[in-house]
Amino acid sequence: MPRRRLALEAYRVGWICPLEVEQIAAMDMLDEEHDSLPQKPADHNVYKLGSINNHNIVIAGLPLTGNCPAATVVAQMRMTFPNLRYGLLVGIGGGVPVRTENGTIRLGHVVVGTPTGVHSGTVQYDHGKAKEGSFERTGSIPPPPALLLNAARALNVVREREDHDPVWKDAQRPLKRRRGARRFKFPGVAKDYLYPPQNTHQQPDKSCTESGCDPCQRIDRNVDEDEDEESFVVVHQGTIASGELVVKTAALRDRLADQYGVLCFEMEAAGALADFPCLVIRGISDYCDSHKNDEWHGYAAAAAAAYARQLFFHLPEEEAQK
Ligand SMILES: [Zn+2]
Repeated sequence: MPRRRLALEAYRVGWICPLEVEQIAAMDMLDEEHDSLPQKPADHNVYKLGSINNHNIVIAGLPLTGNCPAATVVAQMRMTFPNLRYGLLVGIGGGVPVRTENGTIRLGHVVVGTPTGVHSGTVQYDHGKAKEGSFERTGSIPPPPALLLNAARALNVVREREDHDPVWKDAQRPLKRRRGARRFKFPGVAKDYLYPPQNTHQQPDKSCTESGCDPCQRIDRNVDEDEDEESFVVVHQGTIASGELVVKTAALRDRLADQYGVLCFEMEAAGALADFPCLVIRGISDYCDSHKNDEWHGYAAAAAAAYARQLFFHLPEEEAQK
Protein backbone atom coordinates (compact mmCIF):
# COMPACT_ATOMS: atom_id res chain seq x y z
CA MET A 1 0.00 0.00 0.00
CA PRO A 2 1.49 3.39 -0.98
CA ARG A 3 2.23 5.71 1.89
CA ARG A 4 0.18 8.82 2.22
CA ARG A 5 1.81 12.21 2.14
CA LEU A 6 0.14 14.77 4.39
CA ALA A 7 0.83 18.47 4.96
CA LEU A 8 2.96 19.63 7.89
CA GLU A 9 -0.18 21.29 9.24
CA ALA A 10 -2.00 17.96 9.51
CA TYR A 11 0.01 16.80 12.55
CA ARG A 12 -1.31 17.59 16.03
CA VAL A 13 0.60 15.23 18.30
CA GLY A 14 4.32 14.99 18.99
CA TRP A 15 5.58 11.65 20.32
CA ILE A 16 9.03 12.03 21.83
CA CYS A 17 11.07 8.92 22.52
CA PRO A 18 14.61 9.47 23.78
CA LEU A 19 16.17 6.06 23.04
CA GLU A 20 16.37 4.00 19.88
CA VAL A 21 14.60 1.03 21.47
CA GLU A 22 11.74 3.38 22.40
CA GLN A 23 11.55 4.74 18.87
CA ILE A 24 11.31 1.24 17.42
CA ALA A 25 8.49 0.45 19.85
CA ALA A 26 6.74 3.71 18.92
CA MET A 27 6.90 2.87 15.20
CA ASP A 28 5.43 -0.56 15.92
CA MET A 29 2.37 1.13 17.41
CA LEU A 30 1.40 3.06 14.27
CA ASP A 31 -1.61 1.97 12.23
CA GLU A 32 -0.14 3.63 9.18
CA GLU A 33 3.19 5.23 8.27
CA HIS A 34 3.25 8.43 6.22
CA ASP A 35 5.80 9.84 3.77
CA SER A 36 8.37 12.14 5.30
CA LEU A 37 8.10 15.85 4.52
CA PRO A 38 10.68 18.54 3.68
CA GLN A 39 11.80 20.59 6.64
CA LYS A 40 13.83 23.75 7.20
CA PRO A 41 17.64 23.40 7.32
CA ALA A 42 17.61 24.78 10.87
CA ASP A 43 15.60 21.77 12.01
CA HIS A 44 18.03 18.91 12.69
CA ASN A 45 15.46 16.40 13.89
CA VAL A 46 14.62 13.27 11.96
CA TYR A 47 10.90 12.59 12.05
CA LYS A 48 8.80 9.52 11.50
CA LEU A 49 5.23 10.29 10.56
CA GLY A 50 2.14 8.19 10.87
CA SER A 51 -1.22 7.78 12.49
CA ILE A 52 -3.10 5.84 15.13
CA ASN A 53 -6.90 5.75 14.97
CA ASN A 54 -6.87 8.71 12.53
CA HIS A 55 -4.73 10.90 14.78
CA ASN A 56 -1.67 12.12 12.89
CA ILE A 57 1.52 11.77 14.88
CA VAL A 58 5.09 13.03 14.59
CA ILE A 59 7.63 10.72 16.20
CA ALA A 60 11.00 12.19 17.12
CA GLY A 61 13.95 10.61 18.89
CA LEU A 62 16.68 12.47 20.77
CA PRO A 63 20.35 12.66 19.74
CA LEU A 64 21.32 12.35 23.43
CA THR A 65 19.36 11.71 26.59
CA GLY A 66 18.71 14.60 28.94
CA ASN A 67 16.69 17.73 29.43
CA CYS A 68 18.63 19.98 27.07
CA PRO A 69 18.37 17.70 24.01
CA ALA A 70 14.68 17.19 24.80
CA ALA A 71 14.03 20.93 24.94
CA THR A 72 15.87 21.49 21.64
CA VAL A 73 14.09 18.67 19.82
CA VAL A 74 10.69 19.89 21.01
CA ALA A 75 11.41 23.50 20.01
CA GLN A 76 12.44 22.46 16.48
CA MET A 77 9.54 20.07 16.12
CA ARG A 78 7.05 22.79 17.00
CA MET A 79 8.68 25.14 14.51
CA THR A 80 8.32 22.62 11.66
CA PHE A 81 4.85 21.33 12.58
CA PRO A 82 2.90 24.51 13.35
CA ASN A 83 -0.27 22.83 14.59
CA LEU A 84 1.20 20.51 17.23
CA ARG A 85 -1.05 20.78 20.25
CA TYR A 86 0.45 18.42 22.75
CA GLY A 87 3.04 15.75 23.23
CA LEU A 88 3.65 12.34 24.62
CA LEU A 89 7.01 11.60 26.17
CA VAL A 90 7.22 7.84 25.99
CA GLY A 91 10.00 5.55 27.09
CA ILE A 92 11.63 3.62 29.87
CA GLY A 93 12.36 4.79 33.38
CA GLY A 94 13.72 3.63 36.70
CA GLY A 95 11.05 2.61 39.17
CA VAL A 96 10.78 3.11 42.90
CA PRO A 97 9.45 -0.14 44.41
CA VAL A 98 6.77 1.53 46.50
CA ARG A 99 3.13 0.60 46.85
CA THR A 100 0.44 2.49 45.00
CA GLU A 101 -3.26 1.69 44.87
CA ASN A 102 -2.41 -0.72 42.03
CA GLY A 103 0.20 -2.66 44.00
CA THR A 104 3.97 -2.45 44.28
CA ILE A 105 5.84 -0.97 41.33
CA ARG A 106 7.79 -3.73 39.56
CA LEU A 107 9.62 -4.17 36.27
CA GLY A 108 7.44 -3.97 33.17
CA HIS A 109 4.81 -1.84 34.88
CA VAL A 110 3.99 1.57 33.43
CA VAL A 111 4.04 4.88 35.32
CA VAL A 112 2.04 7.81 33.97
CA GLY A 113 2.85 11.28 35.27
CA THR A 114 -0.38 12.52 36.84
CA PRO A 115 -0.97 15.54 39.09
CA THR A 116 -0.84 14.40 42.72
CA GLY A 117 -0.76 16.55 45.83
CA VAL A 118 1.50 19.55 45.31
CA HIS A 119 3.12 18.16 42.15
CA SER A 120 1.93 18.60 38.57
CA GLY A 121 2.81 15.06 37.47
CA THR A 122 6.52 15.71 37.04
CA VAL A 123 9.00 17.19 39.48
CA GLN A 124 12.41 18.44 38.46
CA TYR A 125 14.25 17.49 41.62
CA ASP A 126 17.63 18.92 40.59
CA HIS A 127 16.21 22.11 39.19
CA GLY A 128 18.58 24.36 41.18
CA LYS A 129 21.53 22.76 39.43
CA ALA A 130 19.81 22.82 36.07
CA LYS A 131 19.19 26.53 36.44
CA GLU A 132 22.92 27.22 36.54
CA GLY A 133 23.48 25.44 33.25
CA SER A 134 22.11 26.31 29.84
CA PHE A 135 18.68 25.03 30.75
CA GLU A 136 16.89 27.97 32.33
CA ARG A 137 13.60 27.45 34.07
CA THR A 138 12.01 28.37 37.33
CA GLY A 139 8.84 27.35 39.09
CA SER A 140 7.00 24.11 38.59
CA ILE A 141 6.60 21.99 35.47
CA PRO A 142 3.19 22.47 33.83
CA PRO A 143 0.68 19.65 34.27
CA PRO A 144 -0.30 17.35 31.38
CA PRO A 145 -3.11 18.65 29.14
CA ALA A 146 -6.62 17.90 30.39
CA LEU A 147 -7.42 16.15 27.11
CA LEU A 148 -4.73 13.52 27.75
CA LEU A 149 -5.61 13.13 31.43
CA ASN A 150 -9.22 12.52 30.42
CA ALA A 151 -8.12 9.97 27.83
CA ALA A 152 -6.04 8.24 30.51
CA ARG A 153 -9.09 8.14 32.77
CA ALA A 154 -11.26 6.70 30.01
CA LEU A 155 -8.62 4.07 29.27
CA ASN A 156 -8.50 3.12 32.97
CA VAL A 157 -12.25 2.58 32.97
CA VAL A 158 -12.11 0.37 29.89
CA ARG A 159 -9.23 -1.68 31.30
CA GLU A 160 -11.05 -2.20 34.60
CA ARG A 161 -14.14 -3.49 32.85
CA GLU A 162 -12.80 -5.63 30.04
CA ASP A 163 -11.44 -9.13 30.32
CA HIS A 164 -8.61 -8.57 27.89
CA ASP A 165 -6.15 -5.77 28.42
CA PRO A 166 -5.66 -3.77 25.19
CA VAL A 167 -2.36 -2.38 26.51
CA TRP A 168 -0.95 -5.88 26.99
CA LYS A 169 -2.17 -6.85 23.54
CA ASP A 170 -0.50 -3.85 21.91
CA ALA A 171 2.71 -4.42 23.87
CA GLN A 172 3.03 -7.61 21.81
CA ARG A 173 2.95 -5.72 18.48
CA PRO A 174 6.77 -5.57 18.15
CA LEU A 175 6.84 -9.38 18.36
CA LYS A 176 5.07 -9.61 14.99
CA ARG A 177 8.12 -8.32 13.16
CA ARG A 178 10.36 -10.86 11.57
CA ARG A 179 13.60 -9.31 12.79
CA GLY A 180 14.65 -7.80 16.12
CA ALA A 181 11.49 -8.86 17.91
CA ARG A 182 13.10 -10.87 20.68
CA ARG A 183 14.34 -7.90 22.71
CA PHE A 184 10.71 -6.75 23.14
CA LYS A 185 9.46 -9.97 24.65
CA PHE A 186 8.18 -10.00 28.24
CA PRO A 187 11.16 -11.38 30.22
CA GLY A 188 8.91 -13.03 32.83
CA VAL A 189 8.53 -12.38 36.54
CA ALA A 190 11.39 -14.77 37.33
CA LYS A 191 13.74 -12.20 35.75
CA ASP A 192 12.49 -9.38 37.97
CA TYR A 193 15.33 -8.98 40.48
CA LEU A 194 14.63 -6.58 43.30
CA TYR A 195 17.18 -6.50 46.11
CA PRO A 196 16.88 -4.71 49.46
CA PRO A 197 18.47 -1.22 49.39
CA GLN A 198 21.48 -2.25 51.48
CA ASN A 199 22.37 -5.09 49.08
CA THR A 200 24.75 -3.64 46.48
CA HIS A 201 25.95 -5.10 43.22
CA GLN A 202 29.74 -5.53 43.41
CA GLN A 203 30.90 -5.81 39.79
CA PRO A 204 29.26 -3.16 37.61
CA ASP A 205 30.13 -4.78 34.26
CA LYS A 206 28.72 -8.18 35.15
CA SER A 207 25.27 -9.63 35.56
CA CYS A 208 23.84 -10.32 39.02
CA THR A 209 24.62 -14.02 38.65
CA GLU A 210 28.22 -13.40 37.56
CA SER A 211 28.68 -10.76 40.22
CA GLY A 212 27.54 -13.15 42.96
CA CYS A 213 24.41 -11.26 44.01
CA ASP A 214 22.62 -13.66 46.35
CA PRO A 215 19.28 -14.78 44.84
CA CYS A 216 18.00 -15.52 48.38
CA GLN A 217 18.15 -11.81 49.14
CA ARG A 218 15.75 -10.91 46.32
CA ILE A 219 12.36 -9.51 47.21
CA ASP A 220 9.85 -11.77 45.49
CA ARG A 221 7.32 -10.28 43.18
CA ASN A 222 3.82 -10.81 44.44
CA VAL A 223 2.19 -12.18 41.33
CA ASP A 224 -1.26 -12.40 42.88
CA GLU A 225 -1.25 -8.69 43.32
CA ASP A 226 -0.50 -8.21 39.62
CA GLU A 227 -3.63 -10.16 38.76
CA ASP A 228 -3.09 -12.24 35.66
CA GLU A 229 0.57 -11.33 35.36
CA GLU A 230 1.21 -12.44 31.81
CA SER A 231 -1.72 -10.73 30.19
CA PHE A 232 -2.05 -7.46 32.01
CA VAL A 233 0.11 -4.33 32.18
CA VAL A 234 -0.07 -2.74 35.63
CA VAL A 235 -0.26 1.05 35.32
CA HIS A 236 0.51 3.42 38.20
CA GLN A 237 -0.32 7.11 38.18
CA GLY A 238 1.56 9.70 40.19
CA THR A 239 4.66 11.85 40.25
CA ILE A 240 7.63 11.24 37.97
CA ALA A 241 11.02 12.71 38.89
CA SER A 242 12.99 14.30 36.10
CA GLY A 243 16.65 15.21 36.45
CA GLU A 244 20.07 15.15 34.82
CA LEU A 245 21.40 12.64 37.29
CA VAL A 246 21.43 8.91 36.55
CA VAL A 247 20.17 7.46 39.83
CA LYS A 248 22.14 4.26 40.39
CA THR A 249 21.96 3.60 44.11
CA ALA A 250 18.98 2.45 46.10
CA ALA A 251 19.88 4.84 48.93
CA LEU A 252 19.71 7.92 46.68
CA ARG A 253 16.58 6.60 44.97
CA ASP A 254 14.79 6.13 48.26
CA ARG A 255 15.94 9.46 49.68
CA LEU A 256 14.67 11.38 46.63
CA ALA A 257 11.52 9.26 46.45
CA ASP A 258 10.72 10.01 50.10
CA GLN A 259 11.39 13.68 49.65
CA TYR A 260 9.18 14.15 46.58
CA GLY A 261 6.83 11.18 46.72
CA VAL A 262 7.91 9.98 43.28
CA LEU A 263 7.19 6.66 41.60
CA CYS A 264 9.75 6.79 38.82
CA PHE A 265 12.91 8.56 37.61
CA GLU A 266 13.68 9.75 34.11
CA MET A 267 15.85 12.35 32.40
CA GLU A 268 13.91 14.25 29.75
CA ALA A 269 10.52 15.42 30.98
CA ALA A 270 11.72 18.69 32.48
CA GLY A 271 13.19 19.70 29.12
CA ALA A 272 10.33 18.50 26.92
CA LEU A 273 7.67 19.99 29.16
CA ALA A 274 9.27 23.40 29.59
CA ASP A 275 6.57 24.99 27.43
CA PHE A 276 4.88 22.13 25.62
CA PRO A 277 1.95 20.31 27.25
CA CYS A 278 2.93 16.65 27.47
CA LEU A 279 1.94 13.44 29.16
CA VAL A 280 4.92 11.44 30.44
CA ILE A 281 4.63 7.66 30.12
CA ARG A 282 7.44 5.45 31.40
CA GLY A 283 7.80 1.68 31.31
CA ILE A 284 9.78 0.49 34.32
CA SER A 285 13.01 -1.16 33.16
CA ASP A 286 15.10 -1.06 36.37
CA TYR A 287 15.00 -0.02 40.02
CA CYS A 288 17.59 2.80 39.82
CA ASP A 289 19.96 0.71 41.92
CA SER A 290 23.39 -0.86 41.45
CA HIS A 291 21.84 -4.05 40.00
CA LYS A 292 20.29 -2.30 37.00
CA ASN A 293 20.81 -3.89 33.58
CA ASP A 294 19.30 -3.79 30.10
CA GLU A 295 17.25 -6.96 30.23
CA TRP A 296 13.86 -5.25 30.55
CA HIS A 297 14.50 -2.31 28.21
CA GLY A 298 12.67 -3.73 25.19
CA TYR A 299 9.55 -4.94 26.95
CA ALA A 300 9.32 -1.83 29.16
CA ALA A 301 9.60 0.37 26.06
CA ALA A 302 6.87 -1.67 24.32
CA ALA A 303 4.55 -1.49 27.34
CA ALA A 304 4.90 2.30 27.56
CA ALA A 305 4.36 2.69 23.80
CA ALA A 306 1.33 0.40 23.93
CA TYR A 307 -0.21 2.52 26.67
CA ALA A 308 0.43 5.65 24.56
CA ARG A 309 -1.18 3.97 21.54
CA GLN A 310 -4.30 3.09 23.50
CA LEU A 311 -4.81 6.72 24.51
CA PHE A 312 -5.57 7.55 20.86
CA PHE A 313 -8.70 5.43 21.08
CA HIS A 314 -9.99 7.71 23.84
CA LEU A 315 -9.18 11.12 22.39
CA PRO A 316 -12.04 12.97 20.74
CA GLU A 317 -11.29 12.99 17.03
CA GLU A 318 -12.50 16.51 16.28
CA GLU A 319 -10.34 17.91 19.08
CA ALA A 320 -7.20 16.30 17.81
CA GLN A 321 -7.80 16.96 14.11
CA LYS A 322 -9.18 20.49 14.19
ZN1 LIG B 1 23.26 -7.54 41.18
